[in-house]
This record gives sequence, structure tokens and C-alpha cells, in this order.
Amino acid sequence: MEYKKLGNTDIEVSKLCFGSLTITPSQANLSISEGSRLINFAYDNGINFIDTAEIYENYEYIREALKYIPRDKFVITSKTYAYTSEMADESLNLALKELGTDYIDLFLLHEQESEMTLKGHYEALERLFALKEKGYIRGVGISTHKIAALKASEQFKEIEVIHPMINKYGLGILDGTRDEMLDEIKKARTRGVGIYAMKVIGGGHLISEADEAIKWANNIEYFDSMAIGMQSEEEVLNNIAIINNREVSLEIKSKLRTHNRTIDVEDYCIACGNCEKRCQAEAIKVIDGMARINENCIMCGYCATVCPEFCIKVY
Ligand code: SF4
Ligand code: SF4
Repeated sequence: MEYKKLGNTDIEVSKLCFGSLTITPSQANLSISEGSRLINFAYDNGINFIDTAEIYENYEYIREALKYIPRDKFVITSKTYAYTSEMADESLNLALKELGTDYIDLFLLHEQESEMTLKGHYEALERLFALKEKGYIRGVGISTHKIAALKASEQFKEIEVIHPMINKYGLGILDGTRDEMLDEIKKARTRGVGIYAMKVIGGGHLISEADEAIKWANNIEYFDSMAIGMQSEEEVLNNIAIINNREVSLEIKSKLRTHNRTIDVEDYCIACGNCEKRCQAEAIKVIDGMARINENCIMCGYCATVCPEFCIKVY
């Protein structure tokens, strides 16, 4: 596995990052021991980088995995929706406590959209940067589904790492094309910002052509790493082999799922509208007393985290 520094930071990460939303109750629903074993398996096979977020509510899996992985050998990213100093402190304290660690490698402002949202979250960004100076965080940045946020990031020296939505077909980019996003990513990387790609297999839409989608991202030299959600040992081994330009054994291939992920709303939906408000992609709407999903959905699963009835499932 290739390891690279994330931009100008001193944080060295594997080319493949373990996207951890997929192991949670709203997706594969692995138990804590199953999920932590999978993280440990990924680590044993060379993956030293995991992506999580406060909203995923999955710190416990990583805490359990850290009983096996030496802390200084593992890079953990989390994300927060904080927009004030106090909220940034709360998010960091929660992560430290629930992960059972005394520092987080990367802390990102989650789902930044534009110059306006960055300005609106600046107090939190500044605070995270100050917490970095105190040794609680090693790097600060943003995640985004929007080209506008990449463009605006140049104005904020605190942004050292960006986790942008990007994949072979540009699925999930909310304000332009794949190539427009790539242009802005390249500019940010040239400024020394670390880049790790998000949703390289389109949140599961591209599982049936995952190998090609991963190869596409692997060939872009200005991606330091890429986060891919994984649910099984076979997916871990398959993705590592592709990144290392190795053939995948037939035994592994035969155990891989080949159908794209899908999302369903169970019929006990109470039409509260939380999911509609939560979805940035305008991909879920309450119509005739029931939440309905449209073709904009990238199966990020974020709507499932705000559903009081737990009726949104990503399979
Ligand atoms: S409907 Fe849900 S899973 Fe689909 S894009 Fe919106 S928040 Fe993500
Ligand atoms: S959040 Fe859940 S219960 Fe509420 S409208 Fe959406 S799917 Fe239905």
C-alpha cells in the first residue's frame, strides 16, 4: 500500500481510507465486535486511515478497534457541524471521550457549501485551529459536496485538508460537473492542501463497476487518499488489490456483492419531514404522507440518522 503525506501536513496516510459509515446500524448494521474486527482487518492489510463523523454515531467501533491498533499508527478523521467555539469544543470533547484517545488526527467542518457557509462557521474553524496549536488535533479542514466550497477554501489558511465529493461520473456533486470539481481540487492541492476523495464509488451506486471507479480515482495524482465505505473483508481485500494494481483472486471476487446499493423507506414512515430537511441533494421528499426518494440520492445515509422511526435503510 502506498502512503503519502496529506498535502503539507505531517500526517501520512494510506492511499485507501476506511469509510466507516457503511458499518453502522443505518447500513450494514455490524455489531461493535464485527465492525471493530473489520477495522482491525483493514489495518492489518495496510489501511492506516479511517474516516468518521459525529453524525455517524460510530465512535464505539473505532474505540474498540483501538484496543488492538497502536494509537500512533492510526489516522482518525472526524467531522462536526459546529459553528461556534463552544460547539467545536463540545464536538472535540465528545470525540476524544467516545474514541478513548487524547487527540484526533483530523477534524473537519462537515458539509461546507460555499464562502457564505465557511464565513458562518469561521468561529468554529478558528477554534479547531487553536485546538490544533494545543495538540488536541493534528490537522483541520472541511468536507464538501460543492465546488463553491473548494473555490472559497483559498481564503481560509486554517483549511489544511479537504474531503471533496468526487467520482468517475461526478455523482453527488451539487453545483457543477466532475471536471469543474477536479479543476478546483487540483488548485487546492497545488496550494498544499491535502486531498482525500469522498464517494469514489458513488455511495454504492457504482458497486457493479467499483473496480473501474477506484482505478479512475487511483490514477489522479493529486488525490492523496480516497475514502471508500467497506462492509466486508472481501471488499477490503478487493479495494486494496485494485489500488496496488494487483489481480484480485477469484475466491475474493466470488464473495463480493455485485449489485449496487439501494435505499428504501419502510412503510411505517410518519411523514415528519426530518429527512427532507436533512438532505442537501433534495433527494427525499414527503409526498402523500410518505417519504419518497428520487434519482438525486447518493445513498450517503445522512437522512437515516435523523429519522425518529429508523425507517430509512441503505442495503
Ligand atoms: S435521500 Fe438520504 S441518502 Fe439520499 S442523498 Fe439525501 S440524505 Fe443522502
Ligand atoms: S425522517 Fe423518517 S419518519 Fe420522518 S419523513 Fe423521513 S422517513 Fe419518514
